[in-house]
Amino acid sequence: MTFEELGLSPTILQAIADLGYQQPTPIQAQAIPVVLMGRDVLGCAQTGTGKTAGFTLPMIEILSSGRAKARMPRSLILEPTRELATQVADSFEKYGKNANLSYALLIGGESFVDQEKKLDRGVDVLIATPGRLIDLFERGKILMNDVKILVIDEADRMLDMGFIPDVERIVGMLPKLRQTLFFSATMAPEIRRLADAFLMNPKEISVSPPATAATTVVQAIAVVETEQKREALRRLIRSENVTNALIFCNRKRDVEILFKSLTKHGFDAVRLHGDMSQPARTETLEKFKRGEARLMVCSDVAARGLDIKGLSHVFNFDVPMHAEDYVHRIGRTGRAGREGHAFTLAAPSDGKYVAAIEKLVGGAIPRIAIEGLEGAALSSGREARGRGGRHERGRPKQEKRQPKVDEVIDAVVPHPEREVGRHAMLEASVALPLPAEKESHLNRHQRRSGGRDHQDAEQQAPRPQRRDGRVHRNDDAGLPGLAFGDHTPAFLLRRGRTSEAR
Ligand code: AMP
Repeated sequence: MTFEELGLSPTILQAIADLGYQQPTPIQAQAIPVVLMGRDVLGCAQTGTGKTAGFTLPMIEILSSGRAKARMPRSLILEPTRELATQVADSFEKYGKNANLSYALLIGGESFVDQEKKLDRGVDVLIATPGRLIDLFERGKILMNDVKILVIDEADRMLDMGFIPDVERIVGMLPKLRQTLFFSATMAPEIRRLADAFLMNPKEISVSPPATAATTVVQAIAVVETEQKREALRRLIRSENVTNALIFCNRKRDVEILFKSLTKHGFDAVRLHGDMSQPARTETLEKFKRGEARLMVCSDVAARGLDIKGLSHVFNFDVPMHAEDYVHRIGRTGRAGREGHAFTLAAPSDGKYVAAIEKLVGGAIPRIAIEGLEGAALSSGREARGRGGRHERGRPKQEKRQPKVDEVIDAVVPHPEREVGRHAMLEASVALPLPAEKESHLNRHQRRSGGRDHQDAEQQAPRPQRRDGRVHRNDDAGLPGLAFGDHTPAFLLRRGRTSEAR
């Protein structure tokens, strides 16, 4: 299958060729002709499958005829996070460079004035996070009567983040006669219920996850005392051939502390977390993507979907509390078939979390020792995870010496082929694919708990109330999961305001 066979016009084909894409990915091959026909799509696909081009390319084609009126966008794309919304806007710029289309990005944290000016001029494509869109709509700055195409992207993430009531309200503002494209990485019953409500006779398209990160990522865990983690990280970074790396912490506060510490020790680092202003977040990410900083210390806001070309390493400064976050984090490296490296620093009390990760990824992750540091052993998992290591009275002694990074590699391939050896290690013993059914099991578990247990510490801040008693929207800045079916906000139950499904 070639792009030429999909029914796209020469200007779009040229933009694709300029990007060096040889052939459509499976989701593109299946979705593009269907979208061009004007049919609804229910797509089960993850990031990394090329799904963004799967909907942006035909949208550019469809929107190329017609003009936008002031404040009346012709299409709407809903994204759960600001970073994903920005990434989709970038895709429009890339794929639509030969099309004369305008788009606006409506995300929290950006100036209302600039966004309103753009809307006043008329936009063909509006890319938005739900909260900011509702705010603008309520202030009468935007009319949705002309939206002919709606894309709901990452629906499962919307559910996790408690955005479904907002999405329902938005859908209720749109014309009933429209084309809807709905994408989700998983199809839990709640997601399917939503899809049934929003879509009309959709074409169902399901593609397998991209080669899971774990198949191209060399993974290892170093167990060290909590107070030695910063030293351990510095040693790891120095001993590894790090081109660029994300360093994940579980809490925003720790992102700041680690960023300052690394900078003080002369490392070229930036940081990203949900408490930063949106311009600062955007600028940091751009700087890191341009290669102007080698290390980015971040919270899980950077874990999902971000596409950073050729990221060589992911370091988990903290073991994530939710096993699926581990998969998302390490999935930032080892993309597009390249080899990646993911090192996790575990404290002795992290036993339970490491066990959950190993269960999820379907195998043991090799332990390594860090040169010059005394290692430790993981607890069985019954002890509570404490802070600062003080709780670890009677902590288990290290049972046996852990191999160093290179020893693990040497065990597979002798020294001269060390670089190859890393790869061999990955192929031979460390490739830990994440079976699809594990992921859906995991998502089922999340749904049952209303999404709440998915939120990391950063995301467990109480959702602030406005004076009118409504919940203050802050898009992806860390909200507890008010999941669909779990709690329906009062405003949704008010007569005449409930969003109508078509
Ligand atoms: P996505 O799943 O939409 O986030 O896309 C993941 C990555 O795949 C992005 O970096 C795209 O630029 C890239 N990509 C999308 N479609 C193709 C294609 N047909 N050939 C090569 N790369 C692609």
